[in-house]
Amino acid sequence: MASKDSEKLEIMRHSAAHVMAEAVLSIFPEAKFGIGPAIENGFYYDFDLPRSLTVDDLPLIESKMREIIAANVPFTREEVTKKKAKALFADQPYKLELIDEIPDAKVSLYQEGKFLDLCRGPHIGSTGEIGAFKLLSIAGAYWRGDEKRPMLQRVYGVAFDTEEALAEHLNKLDEAAKRDHRKLGKELDLFSLHEEAGPGLVHWHPKGAVIRRIIEDFWKDEHIKRGYDIVYTPHIAKLNLWKTSGHWEFYRDYLYSPMEVEGQEYIIKPMNCLGHILIYKTSHHSYRELPLRYAELGTVYRYERSGVLHGLSRVRGFTQDDAHIFCRFDQLEDEVAGVLDLAMFMVDTFGFSDYQIFLSTRPEKYAGDTKVWEEATDTLSRALTRQGLEYSVDPGEGVFYGPKIDIKFEGWQGPTIQVDFNLPSRFDVSYTGEDGQEHLVAMVHRTVLGSMERFLASLIEHYAGAFPVWLAPVQAMVIPIADRHLDYARKLEAELKNDGVRAEADARSETVNLKIRRAQLNKIPYMLVVGDKEVQASTVSVRLRSGEKIDSQPFASFKKSIKAAIASRSAGLQLD
Ligand SMILES: [Zn+2]
Ligand SMILES: [Zn+2]
Repeated sequence: MASKDSEKLEIMRHSAAHVMAEAVLSIFPEAKFGIGPAIENGFYYDFDLPRSLTVDDLPLIESKMREIIAANVPFTREEVTKKKAKALFADQPYKLELIDEIPDAKVSLYQEGKFLDLCRGPHIGSTGEIGAFKLLSIAGAYWRGDEKRPMLQRVYGVAFDTEEALAEHLNKLDEAAKRDHRKLGKELDLFSLHEEAGPGLVHWHPKGAVIRRIIEDFWKDEHIKRGYDIVYTPHIAKLNLWKTSGHWEFYRDYLYSPMEVEGQEYIIKPMNCLGHILIYKTSHHSYRELPLRYAELGTVYRYERSGVLHGLSRVRGFTQDDAHIFCRFDQLEDEVAGVLDLAMFMVDTFGFSDYQIFLSTRPEKYAGDTKVWEEATDTLSRALTRQGLEYSVDPGEGVFYGPKIDIKFEGWQGPTIQVDFNLPSRFDVSYTGEDGQEHLVAMVHRTVLGSMERFLASLIEHYAGAFPVWLAPVQAMVIPIADRHLDYARKLEAELKNDGVRAEADARSETVNLKIRRAQLNKIPYMLVVGDKEVQASTVSVRLRSGEKIDSQPFASFKKSIKAAIASRSAGLQLD
């Protein structure tokens, strides 16, 4: 039933795209048309127009669409020969190109009002069946996604059965826009990207850098506790190394061009794996020394087309929270279970829930032995079951070099764990077994946060910028009521700082309300308002960023409480 409804909705959305095209045609008779499919929640159409559209054009197009819908004109279908179709679309170069590519002798056309389109259909009976819709935005889109072809103007709209469903969706979009990490990143002064430096290259501002440092410190401590060794590896390496690994062959599109140093070619690293392998191989390892777990917050660079770059979540340079585990095959289950435990502990600490776990199995093209693949896939599934984690199997979605586990969250890619049968054999990464023979190691690549950049993007959106106190760039703002209370405010600031609390005193000569408002906009968890009464009694009046006021309390007890809240990494702001 649900799938039938969604099919109906899709047909309605696609029909709305035709109606939008008709509306555009009535405004721009010389318009050339690309394609206009239904998409999730709505539709778009690509136009080649004599001038650029702006959002101010959307209401006019919408009102023309409403006229067409009110007129309730029928959609009629006709099959014609390709020759006839080409005559009908003689002045529509994009349609002509599409007609040429259709293998059948005949093509189907749909007409509604004055608009004729090349289309397979199906469509609704008449325009009056279109429900509630709204046009949202305009974007540039290359014809057929090809940067060498003309750039068309894509107009996006959403459409639903009812006004209520549309309103609910628009409300959701509003909420998402408020949480957009690009907007909050600017407002909270966390990071920036610069055209002068190049797209997709992130500059972390002091406040963003505080969050990153706290995450990195937590990450390192937790890894060391769990038996990882922290390593550092260089940012460039000889091209030959990447030829041996197969990266040059398989991932060339993502690699930056080589640079020459003393007659040797080098590339900037797209991954940290090879450095860790070189460290492993500096000595012989016996079965007793395994597992070895090398962890690195490793900065890598990969080429992404400028068109797909997006804030912090799609960038060209990023720092992975990477680690590689070298172990025996009989240790693989324990190791994977250990990674899962660490991953779940970390995501839980950062306040993420509602995840889905996928186990991806052998794809059509793969490296290594089928039997080894099956054993490793079974091992991953046993480790998941052992950790009490439910998962679904994604058949054939493994990487060519081994099966993997992905833990996915809404809006965040989450941790991944990959077994690799390729690199150990390419680099002969081995250990001496109990039998005195050399054996290839089982190698595991894993990240928990993915990259610092992408993780900060998810964190900002998850908390809408109101970070838990342990992550907040400024944890407490001391607000003196009048200038005569500034000395006391400064004293509290110094005492808090001395105890490792990120505190500031707002020394500006402004009203208290303005200072409170600013601290709230900056989403600072605690505001300590101090006046005559507080100076006299060595107390503070605490306000939360939510606006809630807490009774005046001795400064010493506030200091103790906030330190406890930070140490416990709690999500709430209530003080004990
Ligand atoms: Zn159509
Ligand atoms: Zn790796």
